[in-house]
Amino acid sequence: MTITVEQTYNNHINGVWKTDSEEKKPSINPAHPREVVGYYTMSESATLHEAVEAAAAAKREWRKMAEPARGDILYKAAAVLEARVEEIAETMTKEMGKTLPEAKGETMRGVQILRYYAGEGMRQNGDVIPSTDKDALMFTNRTPLGVVGVITPWNFPVAIPVWKIAPALVYGNTVVFKPAQEAAVTAAKVVECLAEAGLPEGVLNFVTGSGSVIGRGLAEHPDVNGITFTGSEQVGRGIGQAALARGAKYQLEMGGKNPVIVTEDADLDAAVDAVISGGLKSTGQKCTATSRVIVQSGVYEGFKEKLLTKVKDIKVGDGMNKDSWMGPCASEKQFRSVTSYIETGKQEGAALLCGGETMPEEGYYVTPAVFDNVDPDMTIAREEIFGPVLALMKVETLEEAIETANDTEYGLSASIFTNNIQESLSFMDDIEAGLVRINAESAGVELQAPFGGMKNSSSHSREQGEAAKEFFTSIKTVLVK
Ligand code: NAD
Repeated sequence: MTITVEQTYNNHINGVWKTDSEEKKPSINPAHPREVVGYYTMSESATLHEAVEAAAAAKREWRKMAEPARGDILYKAAAVLEARVEEIAETMTKEMGKTLPEAKGETMRGVQILRYYAGEGMRQNGDVIPSTDKDALMFTNRTPLGVVGVITPWNFPVAIPVWKIAPALVYGNTVVFKPAQEAAVTAAKVVECLAEAGLPEGVLNFVTGSGSVIGRGLAEHPDVNGITFTGSEQVGRGIGQAALARGAKYQLEMGGKNPVIVTEDADLDAAVDAVISGGLKSTGQKCTATSRVIVQSGVYEGFKEKLLTKVKDIKVGDGMNKDSWMGPCASEKQFRSVTSYIETGKQEGAALLCGGETMPEEGYYVTPAVFDNVDPDMTIAREEIFGPVLALMKVETLEEAIETANDTEYGLSASIFTNNIQESLSFMDDIEAGLVRINAESAGVELQAPFGGMKNSSSHSREQGEAAKEFFTSIKTVLVK
């Protein structure tokens, strides 16, 4: 029996919440798989076309609006979202499982991002360039791309959409936003906040549905001038190719296989806390989550003992319960994928020290798993698991540690724990990662700082902070005589 507790969330196109007859799909609570959090629309291509048409029709007027006025709308959106933090965080916890404190933190992050980009409306967006002709004035001016497609994953259903939509809007673009199906209800509530802030018709359009119809359709649409995507590498590559084929600008933020190195000079207690927080919060479902823990042999056993003591104490349960430190995997698909990686780890000969227990009938829970003696060639050392699984790897020297850390197709985030300044500097210099952390966990970065990866983690542009301007605008070089 299915328990229905929530309502239907529709598409938002040209300033109107649509009521249509398209198929509706339930969004399921991963902590109670029989509970429906809400229904969303499985839109068809025609609906996507309607949304892109609305965004294209609105783009000139929005571009012509003064930047500070665009910023003012984002300030209002921040206030509306802030007033709904509790409610939206609860929806997030029920829809994708992260604990309520983490969901509140993320929703507040959305508020702060909106404020940051609202302020961007008051900042300069070009430079005066000295001309060899002293009678000429030469300067750059930034112009929006036009219509931007925003495609997001389920793991940060407020923060990721907001850190794409807010800069897109303040720099003068109109948007068609397609969220992940697993977090469509939370995403709809974010759009409600933005719409309530007074965006003109057609400036922000929201279309839910499958990746293959709506996501792919956005990437291929001739009237979409830029695509910003966060999600898996496989999907990202396809989007990049589709955008490239028609000359559209694209930005891809993809997976990670993030290492933490612990050297013999490390504060082991600090390293243990950072590995647990960075690797297991949000059930390990962060692109920056710690996944490989590379420990120097002299402290390997001591570190392992301290880590296991704390990991075994972690309380797993419904994220709505105060006692739960870690919630379920976000969906049945995610649960199946994580448990299959744990089986592969065992089959390939890694020793499972703790965790990996499940109780799918009660919720998509997997207790945090720690593997010992993981070989760099094993699947669990190479592929992104996106779940609560830590792989311990033993090395002799710092050089071997950095080599092991770099032995991956990904390059998103990497940490070292050491009190030795020379080790810190060598790591900073030699590590192949966009986010380099010294005595800090691998997960998370402040919103005003550039975010992005190297190698297969990213298309090498950066999100967040001022860096976002590079993607969401083009430069015009102007000469006046
Ligand atoms: P996903 O790639 O399956 O889906 C992401 C989005 O793409 C969803 O909206 C989905 O509907 C859409 N999509 C699916 N198929 C598509 C297609 N053929 N064409 C266009 N769009 C399509 O990823 P997910 O499971 O939602 O999220 C998990 C992944 O996201 C992990 O790999 C994780 O590392 C990555 N991630 C990366 C970052 C980062 O900033 N680097 C942040 C969070 C998550």
